[in-house]
Amino acid sequence: MSAQVLTLEGERQTLSDETVEEIRAIFRGEVLTADDAGYDDVRVIQNAMLDRRPGLIIRCTGAADVVDAVRLAATRNLLVAVRGGGHSIAGTSTADDSLMIDLSAMRGVWVDPQQRRVRVAGGATWGDVDRETQLHRLAVPGGVVSTTGVAGLTLGGGIGWLHRRYGLACDALRAAEVVTASGDVVRCSASEHEDLFWALRGGGGNFGVVVSFEFEAYPLGPVVWNGMVAYPIEDAAEMLPRWRDWTSTVPDEVTSRAMLWSLPAVPALPPAVHNRDVFIVAAVYAGDPDEGQRACRALAEFGSPLADMSQALPYRAAQSSLDAFFPKGGLQSYWKSVYLDRLDEDATAFVARVGQNRPHPMTMVHAPLLGGAMARVGPTETAFGDRSARYMLSLDGNWLDPADDGANIRWVRDAYDDAVRLRAASGTYLNFGGDADLDDAARARAWGSNVERLRQVKRRYDPENRFRLNPNIPPAEN
Ligand SMILES: Cc1cc2nc3c(=O)[nH]c(=O)nc-3n(C[C@H](O)[C@H](O)[C@H](O)COP(=O)(O)OP(=O)(O)OC[C@H]3O[C@@H](n4cnc5c(N)ncnc54)[C@H](O)[C@@H]3O)c2cc1C
Repeated sequence: MSAQVLTLEGERQTLSDETVEEIRAIFRGEVLTADDAGYDDVRVIQNAMLDRRPGLIIRCTGAADVVDAVRLAATRNLLVAVRGGGHSIAGTSTADDSLMIDLSAMRGVWVDPQQRRVRVAGGATWGDVDRETQLHRLAVPGGVVSTTGVAGLTLGGGIGWLHRRYGLACDALRAAEVVTASGDVVRCSASEHEDLFWALRGGGGNFGVVVSFEFEAYPLGPVVWNGMVAYPIEDAAEMLPRWRDWTSTVPDEVTSRAMLWSLPAVPALPPAVHNRDVFIVAAVYAGDPDEGQRACRALAEFGSPLADMSQALPYRAAQSSLDAFFPKGGLQSYWKSVYLDRLDEDATAFVARVGQNRPHPMTMVHAPLLGGAMARVGPTETAFGDRSARYMLSLDGNWLDPADDGANIRWVRDAYDDAVRLRAASGTYLNFGGDADLDDAARARAWGSNVERLRQVKRRYDPENRFRLNPNIPPAEN
């Protein structure tokens, strides 16, 4: 049960049986080597394409385990991967022969309904948060799949069904407890370690391991209106301008997206959409469900729908309605995204065309409507950067057969290259990004003029770039 772990310089370090035993004695959580039972289950992440084998996995149970794991890495100069929910499409929460600091067993959520504050442990999922907050008819703006980790999604920004009403997930963050590269536990907020607090809201996992998040929660539910109407995909070119025109009239309570996708033949879906390529317009209304029904009625009036699946349903059900399409470790995935300042004629024609040419039925082309509360935060107020784009276009390549990796990755890259040439195209959203390595141009597309400030914060909290397996920000040189 010895282990091989890489140093930051890429040299292989062998941890003897005896050393592994000494390490085990330090932690309350499990410490797994490749020889241990359970290792192969624990190392699985969302993206099946990235079948990586960490050298040592430390399954932390609390902040003290995280501190000791970070100190172990510092003492032995080891390459560190930090895992929350494991949904990174680029697979940055794992690496071959790394020391994985795994927070996925730390999933506690504590709600203070009077103060509308929620404390969330660093490895919790959005399903964990929704379950506890909905007990009090509260919600924190998160993502649209309940198995996604709070950590990675929040640190990268976080769009979902509430970003127009309540802002991005990172906008709801009020404080965080972070283990920095030196192994110190630091609390940051608007009045403590403000630079770190600024950087965490969009700058990713660059600055340390977040052991707990403190969010503001907002009134919502328990029932919401979930508009969901499917049209034949061939109608997308005609429908997209109608959806766009409608989106310019809706209040912030409405967060909507258009999706070009294929639906499977499952009993939960009406037979009219079984095994069909569809153009879906969907929305959640963050308010009274009856008002939501009225506000979203137009979704079924853009043309002749195949099926109107709109309904009032518990917010938690809306939040988990896509889960079955994204089984853990079940899909090969490669995604890329671009912001669109507007959906002009070129852009709608492009989205319709690319959506109809998807190489695999599980590949989704989707365009979330942005704006509203998220756009009322200035570009330098948080690390996230510019929020002025009205839409996003995400090219979510998903397929099953590893033999098709090359063709599917190429398709996403080609479609992305075409998308960035659209006149409406600006920046990129890294949470929907499949590339682990960023160059300066990619950093500029993601964070705009915030890059230099992020590099300064990185230098202060992680000068050696210990936390480098993420959309990486190199520390400033001086
Ligand atoms: C099926 C699916 C649905 C998605 N839906 C949405 C969506 O609706 N909206 C949206 O905005 N994004 C969405 N995403 C993208 C998602 O936000 C990112 O993949 C995000 O990184 C996932 O976070 P995680 O904690 O699950 O991932 P992980 O893979 O565990 O981590 C992602 C990154 O964050 C770092 N990290 C993880 N935990 C910590 C921590 N505690 N402290 C410091 N760093 C940490 C990791 O090192 C890694 O670099 C989705 C992804 C998938 C696969």
